[in-house]
Amino acid sequence: MSNDFIDDLLEALSFSPDNIPLRLRIAKSYFDRSEYQKSEEQYLEVLKLDGNSIDAKFGLSKCYFRLKKTAPAEIILEELIELDSSNIEYLELLCYCQLEDGNINEAKETYQQILIFDTSYKNADFDGVLRMQTVNDKEDTLVDEDAIKFLKKPTVNFLDVGGMNDVKEQISLKIIKPLEHKELYKAYGKKIGGGILLYGPPGCGKTHLARATAGEINANFISIGINDILDMWVGSSEQNLHEIFETARSNKPCVIFIDEIDALGANRSDMNKSAGRNVINQFLAELDGIDSDNDGILVLGATNTPWHLDPAFRRPGRFDRIIFVAPPDHAAKIAIYEIMLKDKPVESIDYKALAKAAKDFSGADIQASIDVAIEEKLMQSFSDGIPKPISTKDLLKAIKSVKPSTKEWFTTSKNYALYANDSGLYDEILSYLKIRK
Ligand code: ADP
Repeated sequence: MSNDFIDDLLEALSFSPDNIPLRLRIAKSYFDRSEYQKSEEQYLEVLKLDGNSIDAKFGLSKCYFRLKKTAPAEIILEELIELDSSNIEYLELLCYCQLEDGNINEAKETYQQILIFDTSYKNADFDGVLRMQTVNDKEDTLVDEDAIKFLKKPTVNFLDVGGMNDVKEQISLKIIKPLEHKELYKAYGKKIGGGILLYGPPGCGKTHLARATAGEINANFISIGINDILDMWVGSSEQNLHEIFETARSNKPCVIFIDEIDALGANRSDMNKSAGRNVINQFLAELDGIDSDNDGILVLGATNTPWHLDPAFRRPGRFDRIIFVAPPDHAAKIAIYEIMLKDKPVESIDYKALAKAAKDFSGADIQASIDVAIEEKLMQSFSDGIPKPISTKDLLKAIKSVKPSTKEWFTTSKNYALYANDSGLYDEILSYLKIRK
């Protein structure tokens, strides 16, 4: 843009100094020519004419940033963001200002904000600085040492899981036996590996069972929530996933348990919780064991909403076994009460009565009822300091105060089982509902 052009505009302006669009045009022209001071002057003039001009305010903040006056730039940007919180341009410039000032934590927050509004946003400047910082802080990135923290040898085994005989049997066939009889499986050309997907209402022991599976075969156990994988930093989720699998591979045998796996392979509207295609592909590649040895790695996934899961997850060799983890039946409830009260001070307990009263209870509800009874007993014991044993009556009273949590799940799942029953995938839900009636 030639000087003449701006001169022409300035001349025009001398005839109509209150012409806001013209001034904005001049201000922008100066800015484009890196004449930030002159640009600033023009924006300030506009603001004298119209104190609410968004264009002038944003233009001015850009000039300030270039002139290294980050404090006023940030003040203006914050004002603009208050009016339009999802404006990526405002957020981006604010992030640059914060970086310029060395306010890394603030910059991280702003960057996070940007990624929330635009998950496909990419900015190498931010990734470079902010991501390096997170690795240094060992906060948001699952570097090897952090992954080790997830690695545990469980102290529970199948004896600690009440009921669920069918499920235990299936896990044994698919996971435990292949590990114990590798040669036999190989002789028949049967591939070992793949995963099992556990689904069912919350609190019914999916996590507990996964942990017990690892305990059963004396394997390491890595439990990861979806938030451990999904990272706000672009490209970092894939890395996290890879590191988790690598940690497992160097600590075989190992059970990897992924809770809320639906969030990984879901087409959710909740962008925050949904992984991108890259993460899904990475996960599938890890599962398929391309370029790596997955022998001795057992993957268990859990979900309360299997219908949200990407069908690609269900291909052979991936989660080819899908197991319904139902709420405990009468016998299982008795077993769970027995397991959970094992080391507690109790009178002789009528377990059948408890199981009967705990209608529609999940394992977690049973746990909650015991917690309530214990709290009550604690209160009673404070006066003389002597622990009083828990009685059937205490537990029955506590059961009444706990709202069963499984019913709601069946209301939703029934619809999927009836109307979206992908090749009979959810038949087990229907048969469960029939038996329960
Ligand atoms: P989910 O993963 O299905 O949401 P969890 O495995 O976290 O449920 O179970 C919630 C709680 O209930 C845990 O404390 C677990 O120990 C207990 N629990 C659930 N089912 C059983 C069971 N069958 N036997 C023993 N404890 C159980």
